[in-house]
Amino acid sequence: MRQKRAKAYRKLMALYSMSFGFRQPYQVLVDSEMCKDATERKIELLKQLTVILQGDVKPMITQCCIHELYLLGKSQQPAVDLAKTFERRKCNHREVIPGDECLASVVGETNKHRYVVATQSQPLRVKLRAIPAVPIVHVNRSVMVLEPPSDATIQSKEYREEQALHPTGSEKQSLAPSTSAEPPRKKKKGPKGPNPLSVKKKKVETKPPVAKDKGKAKERPVPEAAAGEKRKRDDTADDNETATAQQPADSQPQDELRRKKKRRRKATEPVVVNT
Ligand SMILES: [Zn+2]
Repeated sequence: MRQKRAKAYRKLMALYSMSFGFRQPYQVLVDSEMCKDATERKIELLKQLTVILQGDVKPMITQCCIHELYLLGKSQQPAVDLAKTFERRKCNHREVIPGDECLASVVGETNKHRYVVATQSQPLRVKLRAIPAVPIVHVNRSVMVLEPPSDATIQSKEYREEQALHPTGSEKQSLAPSTSAEPPRKKKKGPKGPNPLSVKKKKVETKPPVAKDKGKAKERPVPEAAAGEKRKRDDTADDNETATAQQPADSQPQDELRRKKKRRRKATEPVVVNT
């Protein structure tokens, strides 16, 4: 096989493997005519398939296809002998049907079992080109040929690639939390913050007043009814404050002002909690 063709076949089989999950050994459905041609032209079928598919192959023949060879009689015994070395593919056709129809039904609408089809039937090849991802092999003047990918195959490949690029709805949902979780991780990787010891010290300084406030709130829980009253008082306190602010500083000692402010804060606290 010429190097150029070998490269093209290698690329083609890579496409079937990458985009459609073909794996070695490639399962090759061989039709009766191919068996006949191979023996008549003295083509080493298994070896040739291995060369053009560039990997291990498992030739298979369906019950209907081997039956066609039986019908040909003694003259085609070598073809029958060849077919008998292949793995028999059960097609479960109770009554034998023509090989083309049998192979078409085994491949099905989607070729879900990932068969390569080696057939000399032109009509069957046309039919199989409409199904995505069916590698088709035939023998042309003693040369085994792997067909270029069909339009259906290329379209399906492009569609799959498009789908792979865009996440589905469920994938987007699963992506959302992970992306939001990423920034903090990055922050961890970045430069470190201030010395943790210094941060702790600050907390120690600020904690005591907070603890006191909380403790007081627990000691003197304000009933809901009183909240309104206290608010009223709060308003008056506000008035007082504005009034006192206008007065000279000597008449209103600083301590009293502070006390008022404190009281006001306490009065508003329960209201905030209740809402
Ligand atoms: Zn069959």
